[in-house]
Amino acid sequence: MKTGISNPILLSIMVVILLAVLAGCSSAAESSEAEKEQTKRPILIQGPMPIEAENFAERLENVEIEESGSTFEFYIGTVDGYPVIVSKTGKGMENTAAATAIAIEKYNPAAIINQGTSGGHDPELNVFDIVLGERTVNIGSMKTGDRVEGEGIEATEWKPMDVMASEGSAGEDPNAEKARYYEGDAELLAAANRVNDSYTQGKIVEGTIGSADLWNNEVDRINWFHKNYETSVEEMESASSAMISKAYDVPFLAIRILSNNKTNDGAYNPETAAANQEYVYEVVQEYIAFLEKE
Ligand code: SAH
Repeated sequence: MKTGISNPILLSIMVVILLAVLAGCSSAAESSEAEKEQTKRPILIQGPMPIEAENFAERLENVEIEESGSTFEFYIGTVDGYPVIVSKTGKGMENTAAATAIAIEKYNPAAIINQGTSGGHDPELNVFDIVLGERTVNIGSMKTGDRVEGEGIEATEWKPMDVMASEGSAGEDPNAEKARYYEGDAELLAAANRVNDSYTQGKIVEGTIGSADLWNNEVDRINWFHKNYETSVEEMESASSAMISKAYDVPFLAIRILSNNKTNDGAYNPETAAANQEYVYEVVQEYIAFLEKE
């Protein structure tokens, strides 16, 4: 008894069907690869001022620019084929909070790095040194002492105020009399530490980054923050971005270079902004390698 297919017409129909099925399989595999590429969540790099965002933006490949309002610019591109978005947030806490929420809602980032310049609170740190934000804290959120008219203003007795302590009044709630520290993400910190050696213009340390819409030039006041909040540096954005990143459970790290340090006469140097972006670029490449391995 014959078991093979002897009818040549039937055989060629079967071959055609088989080829069609195989072709279908391979194009399905290709399109699922392409979908994977497209669904990779981008890494978001924030910089407040043009000098703190544009160097990084220039290094992106395949860039498209999107704007939101009159302040927020997003440079949407890739690094090593992986999606990366540079966000020019504008200066200060409100701009940064808004830029962060917009970016999370629009682009669903896998991680956020807020980077830029800062002023030293630690006399051991010099202009061009870099602080990795093991923690960030809002140093402008405060409750004053109780003083009646004529009793004056006593800034050193002001207490930290945690606006996230409860949904009730932070002014009345004694549990709100503490600083809230936002932890930097462990994997981002690890990636940053792995590429420390690539940076040669200063040292890199882990520390506490204090943020507020405030520029302190009183060294006694700077020392007071350094002692009471353990701040390494101050700037005007990171704690704001950390707060919103936490609200959406997005891994966050602040990376801040010292552009000035009043405690050791470190004069302001705007060149630091570019140096920091170069280091952050190395961190991003390292973090992409980590994400791709996962
Ligand atoms: N308008 C102010 C300067 C603002 S620039 C003036 O003319 O004096 C502030 C920017 O630099 C912010 O984005 C902040 O994050 C950063 N920065 C650098 N050093 C700082 C410091 N010592 N205190 C506060 N912000 C600092």
